[in-house]
Amino acid sequence: MKHVVIMGGGVAGLAAALRLSRSAGRSSLPPRITLLEASPKLGGRVYSFAHALSDSPLDNGQHVLMGCCVAAIEYLREVGHEQNVERLRGLALPFFRADGARSRLEAGTLPHPLGMVQAFLRYDMLSLPDRLRILRVALRLRSMKETDLAALDAMSCEAWLRSMGQSPAAIDYFWHPVILATLNADHERASAKLLAVVLREIFLSTPEAADVLLPAAPLGELFIDPAAHLLELRGVELRLHAPAETLRLDGDRCIGVEMKDGAFLEADAVMSAMPAWALRRVLEQTEASTALQVKYDSFLPSEILSVHFWTSRDLDAGSMSGLLDTKLQWLFAKGRESDGRYRYSCTVSAAGDDVPRSAGELRPLLLEELRLICPDLAGDELLDLLPLREKRATFVPAAGLEVVRPCAETAIQGLFLAGDWTATGFPATIEGAIRSGYTAAESILTLFAGNQS
Ligand SMILES: Cc1cc2nc3c(=O)[nH]c(=O)nc-3n(C[C@H](O)[C@H](O)[C@H](O)COP(=O)(O)OP(=O)(O)OC[C@H]3O[C@@H](n4cnc5c(N)ncnc54)[C@H](O)[C@@H]3O)c2cc1C
Repeated sequence: MKHVVIMGGGVAGLAAALRLSRSAGRSSLPPRITLLEASPKLGGRVYSFAHALSDSPLDNGQHVLMGCCVAAIEYLREVGHEQNVERLRGLALPFFRADGARSRLEAGTLPHPLGMVQAFLRYDMLSLPDRLRILRVALRLRSMKETDLAALDAMSCEAWLRSMGQSPAAIDYFWHPVILATLNADHERASAKLLAVVLREIFLSTPEAADVLLPAAPLGELFIDPAAHLLELRGVELRLHAPAETLRLDGDRCIGVEMKDGAFLEADAVMSAMPAWALRRVLEQTEASTALQVKYDSFLPSEILSVHFWTSRDLDAGSMSGLLDTKLQWLFAKGRESDGRYRYSCTVSAAGDDVPRSAGELRPLLLEELRLICPDLAGDELLDLLPLREKRATFVPAAGLEVVRPCAETAIQGLFLAGDWTATGFPATIEGAIRSGYTAAESILTLFAGNQS
């Protein structure tokens, strides 16, 4: 029986193991699979943890999916949790601006994509000419060919949007929040190509693509625990506290993984589902490092700050609300604790130095900005708050990076790459990570099928 070793137990590694271990629709038996995870838990950047302030586990940060995340939806279906997401149909997002203005972005009743046109025309946070300018970009996106998209990679979002006649107001009150939310980078740095790809997926594919999907259970219970359970049922060996130390090569072929404890795992195929920085460490001082030619230094980390907080009253906000011209960017309502307290979380993407990180400094900021949504919120109604920093939440999807992202198949036989940073065509997201795991798994299955014939 063939043996596959997967290094990394984030959603990319788990998705790969799910795809490799599936026997339905397959003529040959699934390979033997060993998944190595360096840390004591599976999930990587998707996890939940118990905390004294809450009845239910808290997430390391709010994760939002969209209806166009077809691989993530397939993954949830396979692990039996497709129904465990709240679906906000046609965006349906309220926005609150620092000067007190309010608006709503929500698809209208006309058939798709005209319903989206209605959404932009009604978004009165912008002047009518600005709304029409946004629609101009949508029309341009619709007519773009692959070559047009490829040409955008060298450009930043800002340069592209300006070349499309977008005003500073349209950039500040529409494009900037969209780019932060989808790419976790600001418009001056982020690649216009990735933005264009994401917008086409969300607004111009299917009517459901623009639905916002919010996890209705802690991330660990949704994405990680059921996947681990299913993999164990299928006989996959999941090893925690098991960091891969380096790869063993025989000429230009990868023949297995050396572990930190000195053990050697022989394998017919090895998959890295680790972040770029971790792969670099594993490949250091091996010939594989030169053969792969990955430009690790191009993948710069981008932070996400999440603030969990509890109030004694209902802020009367929807499940997800946008804040504009503020430090905090999104507010999520997370339900009630058994003692009656209301739980919320706020997100700051691409968090810069201008955003405080400590609970003490965040409290006045939170109060000030929450009053845009709930004007009479009193100081003592904000109970506890818990800031969480994820310094390496994603990589910066900088202009020019798309051509540098490596494919699943490598120059070394038997070595495959997955992870949100590989060439998924998506930003660093759960969707990209899962797609990368599926792609790398399919490449391995194709290799094995070829070896058999
Ligand atoms: C706060 C926050 C908010 C986010 N919000 C969103 C969102 O709204 N929507 C969205 O889609 N995405 C979001 N993301 C991004 C998303 O979480 C990631 O893109 C995705 O989880 C990456 O998965 P991965 O499997 O590629 O990598 P990881 O999750 O990083 O998994 C890699 C694994 O490899 C392990 N590893 C490292 N070295 C070794 C070694 N030597 N041997 C064995 N194992 C090793 C690591 O411990 C880790 O478990 C967010 C991320 C954060 C942190």
